[in-house]
Amino acid sequence: MNQRNNRRLALFPVPFQGYINPKLHLAQILHDQGFSITILHTDLNSPDPSSHPHFTFRSISDGLRQSEASTSDGVRLMTLLNARCAAPFEERLREEVSSLDAPVTCLIADALFGFNRDAAERAGVRRMVLRTTGATSFRVLAGFRSLRGRGYLPIEESRLEDPVPEFPPIRVKDLPRITGEPELLDQILNDMIEGIKDSSGVILNTFEDLEQPALSLLRQEYPIAVFPIGPFHKCGPSSSGSLLAEDRSCISWLDKQAPNLVVYVSFGSIASVNDQQPFLWVIRPGSVSSSELLENLPSCFLEALEERGKIVKWAPQHEVLAHRAVGAFWTHNGWNSTLESISKGVLMICMPCFSDQNVNARFVSDVWRVGVHLNNGLERRKIAEAIRRLLRAARFKEKANSCLMQGGSSFQSLDGLANHILSSESFIFGSNESSA
Ligand code: UDP
Repeated sequence: MNQRNNRRLALFPVPFQGYINPKLHLAQILHDQGFSITILHTDLNSPDPSSHPHFTFRSISDGLRQSEASTSDGVRLMTLLNARCAAPFEERLREEVSSLDAPVTCLIADALFGFNRDAAERAGVRRMVLRTTGATSFRVLAGFRSLRGRGYLPIEESRLEDPVPEFPPIRVKDLPRITGEPELLDQILNDMIEGIKDSSGVILNTFEDLEQPALSLLRQEYPIAVFPIGPFHKCGPSSSGSLLAEDRSCISWLDKQAPNLVVYVSFGSIASVNDQQPFLWVIRPGSVSSSELLENLPSCFLEALEERGKIVKWAPQHEVLAHRAVGAFWTHNGWNSTLESISKGVLMICMPCFSDQNVNARFVSDVWRVGVHLNNGLERRKIAEAIRRLLRAARFKEKANSCLMQGGSSFQSLDGLANHILSSESFIFGSNESSA
């Protein structure tokens, strides 16, 4: 492991929660493997260095005005970030690579930052890519343009139930819903695909037992090394990358509840639950159209809830999912939440909103059978079905744990990744390990 100590890796996350969390967890995993870590980050949503005193942080100016950063058009925002960050990123990367004191020898880029590719090539540094979605939804997203060409997209109401034969059991209604200008989206997706194809390897936050068929197809489609080393989050505290302050009062509230009864609700939109069912609900600021919903709830309502419900703005999600009182997770099926729920053995009630969430939800309900899909509200029949699925959820929890243990698939893949980073460096710099 000592030979890795002077190997510095740079990681550059897309500045949104669902990307920052896995990137920081990956950084921690690689740090535990003996690598030194530099986190490059935009001004927008910059992480808190004090949560990671063992990493070096360097900021990249994104030049975004407040009005630009707060747009709800994700495609436009990614396009702006790609345009504004390219030059300052390249300049910073060159400095880091040529630094006399612990130069960066490998960049772990985010697939959605297309400019990484040219910048790394010009700076003469090896580049790997992290894809923060699952392998299945990555394949579906990569096929977006051809799905559009074959008339599956944009989604038509009359075709919602049509199967998409290339991606069973996906139906048209499960395809990613991404709003934004099609040309800009195509550019981002094209850069993502090309950037992965000619990278030195792709790292995925998933594991073989969960997504073996998709991983196997990915390996055929992309002639590069593929490292499924997840679930990442099992290596560190959930709070480390949180952009919002966690409200820990929900843990003491959970402590007072009966085992497996509480429904944890987190997807940032208005939902209702059976009035006898205890629940813990995260309403993130800005996640519902009435901006200060939580502040405006009458105090008598909150007091009446105290026994049966708890509402917070941001929860320590890993701790909540691991709590004995939590019996189900009503989720939007972001990939991190999905994987966190699977690895804690918590049954999911799926209510996807957009992007890869629909694909994740379909696999949760129809392939892994660790949750139920809320197509038409929360019916009694669905709840009964959900309870039958609890046992399966527990089985996947075991698999998510065993893959990380010595000899497990993610453990071996991580070992392969660490060696790959070292061998890549010897290839690019014409040295070998013994001279390091
Ligand atoms: N999360 C959290 N507290 C909350 C809600 C979410 O810590 O109250 C974390 C959650 O553990 C996950 C991330 O935020 O790691 C959300 O990522 P995901 O991919 O599930 O959804 P996205 O935010 O990208 O839609």
